[in-house]
Amino acid sequence: MKSTAKSELFRELPSVDELLRLPEVASLAAAHGTAAVTDAARTVVARLRAEVASGLLESSALQLALRGVCGAIEERLRQALSYSLRPLINATGVILHTNLGRAPLAEAALAHIHETAGGYSNLEFEIEAGVRGKRDVHVDRLFRQLLSAGATSAHVATAASAVGAGQSPAEGPATVSTIVVNNNAAAVLLTLNTLAEGGEVIVSRGELVEIGGSFRIPDVMAKSGATLREVGTTNRTRVNDYEQAINERTHLLLRVHRSNFEITGFTEQASTAELVMLGRKRGLPLMEDLGSGSLVDLQSFGIDAEPSVLDSLRAGVDVVTYSGDKLLGGPQAGLISGRTDLVARMRANSLFRALRVDKLTYAALEATLLGYVKRDYDAIPTLKMMRATKAEIGRRAEVLAAKVSSSRLKVEVIDGESVIGGGAAPSSVLPTRLLALTCADLSADELSARLRTFDPPIIARVEDGRVLLDLRTVFADQDEALKTVLIALSH
Ligand SMILES: *Cc1c(COP(=O)(O)O)cnc(C)c1O
Repeated sequence: MKSTAKSELFRELPSVDELLRLPEVASLAAAHGTAAVTDAARTVVARLRAEVASGLLESSALQLALRGVCGAIEERLRQALSYSLRPLINATGVILHTNLGRAPLAEAALAHIHETAGGYSNLEFEIEAGVRGKRDVHVDRLFRQLLSAGATSAHVATAASAVGAGQSPAEGPATVSTIVVNNNAAAVLLTLNTLAEGGEVIVSRGELVEIGGSFRIPDVMAKSGATLREVGTTNRTRVNDYEQAINERTHLLLRVHRSNFEITGFTEQASTAELVMLGRKRGLPLMEDLGSGSLVDLQSFGIDAEPSVLDSLRAGVDVVTYSGDKLLGGPQAGLISGRTDLVARMRANSLFRALRVDKLTYAALEATLLGYVKRDYDAIPTLKMMRATKAEIGRRAEVLAAKVSSSRLKVEVIDGESVIGGGAAPSSVLPTRLLALTCADLSADELSARLRTFDPPIIARVEDGRVLLDLRTVFADQDEALKTVLIALSH
């Protein structure tokens, strides 16, 4: 009996062709194209068929579903044609949030992508000479300008011998070179492979860290073809430990920035100066994986304990690797800055071809670096967010709170802390003012989930039974959208 009923139900299902002839569906096809609408109609019919087959839809339920079939096709079409990668409002107060796309790009970076990537560009072309060029020239010149002050006599001497007669370093800051790869993990891989393949690299046990997103030095080391030589203990490593591990197979000394954690208490670490001296004495290059790598002195922004790229180069580190989308505030990229002769070897490595970046990255990076050259730090969103004061953020929070608080939604402005994130300055927090929300009929987790259902979704923190919104990471022109959402939630 049941199967007879089912086969009758199957006969009531419309064909895709029949659906396409319905006026509502035809007008969808006129607007969005027949191909996409046909796919959507097919999906909807297949779903109905499956529901009938599984006994989920009885006769009356099927009639109901068929009356809503145009709406179902439209909804399916909307899902299929909408973006998966979407903008959202980051109200977490974590400036470099790896899950939320790390550094938002500067306006100038977006504009430069727009003007260069929509058409052809001189990515690898020397316009005047009319010959093939190199893609790294576009940013190398700016890095030279920003980092030349960090060149030590060692960089100069080595660069002079590498460049050869006729281009003395005194003629310009031709002392520190920089190349760009896909991300800092790639920068570390390329550097290790170039400088230490088949040999040993000495690293302190206290620096063998895993960085969010499963970046592990031992794994990258293995892939690079170099052998890891661990020295010292988790909490104490002296320069003598490095020295004793040096043998004829040693190719490189490596220091890794601990990024997302700090070891405190009974600790000892060889200083950069000691490692530089050891490297020079034994003829070994010293590499530092900075991870975050800032191009400005963050101390002037009130953020401590985060060495800049310049600090490392000035101290005599031969090669520094760092991310483009952490403290630098640019696009995802891995930067390798250091001795010109060593960087030239990396450029010549065939792995560089596999790890290089495209024109979008060069455009965004060049525009971001120009912000540094002009000292226009407010043009770089991450730097602007870092520099925003508690008082400024508090004023914006008070304005919002006054407009949205209700008997259903209680909104208070309280003291709190923002963090930089991205493994930068793990112990450094930025004082801020937070909007603390409690809702009469929703738990904090439910309220936070509700905030994510809006368009754009709002991502908040939940702490002590409250939803916390930190306006430090909310762009000022998003306050209005946030207000609209909070008003909607307040009644
Ligand atoms: C973040 C980080 C990395 C990985 O950089 P990506 O740009 O994410 O590939 C490597 N090393 C250190 C020390 C880091 O902080």
